[in-house]
Amino acid sequence: MLLFRALTMQVHENNLFWIQENFPELHHRVVNKTHFFEGLFCFCGSFSEELKEYTFFLGGVMVGEVCDAYKVRIEIYSDKLPVIYETGGRIPFSTDYHKYGNGSVCAWGVLDWPESVAEVFDLALQFFFDQSYFQRHQKWPRGEYYHGELGLLQNYYQATLRGIRSEELCMKLLRQSLEAKYINSILVKRKIKGHHPCICGSTDHFRRCHPDVFKGMWLLQKHFQAKGV
Ligand SMILES: [Zn+2]
Repeated sequence: MLLFRALTMQVHENNLFWIQENFPELHHRVVNKTHFFEGLFCFCGSFSEELKEYTFFLGGVMVGEVCDAYKVRIEIYSDKLPVIYETGGRIPFSTDYHKYGNGSVCAWGVLDWPESVAEVFDLALQFFFDQSYFQRHQKWPRGEYYHGELGLLQNYYQATLRGIRSEELCMKLLRQSLEAKYINSILVKRKIKGHHPCICGSTDHFRRCHPDVFKGMWLLQKHFQAKGV
């Protein structure tokens, strides 16, 4: 179980070697200790609906259900979180597509950011695969990613799947908004029940309407109360 996640990242010689081998069309340069990887991000991959798992084929191996390339710039800082930009204009500037106004993309949640260069590239692969998959099928392979409090609770659940426990940070972020105060009161006072109306405002059962959000909230309450806070 990881209780502390690092915000710093180092680019090692073996990372550079791996990137060069697998992404030969990315150009690498270093400016003031920041590593820039710019150019074409080419990949082939598949997603198993059954196992909810990706398989990627890199370095020009043309197998898998999606083979695609995106123009990108990946910036890896030594003292803050990395940023991935889609610079080719293929992905619309819209939170629905998880791309912001400055061209940066949202390839991970606020609770489970990458801690290594390998993880950055892995999350970038999943992100760009998802975009190509969406263009083809009009749906996201792993389902929709929500925004705001719903997104945060969903991210909490997904982070626990990767062994990341972040109840303190999650609660801190939830408390920053007014609606979150409402969520907070539920967390502390009442047991979270799957057949209660969903917190998104629909009349459907919470468990059925937003299952990942339900699991996230349920786990957050459990983890938080176990700490005796
Ligand atoms: Zn809902």
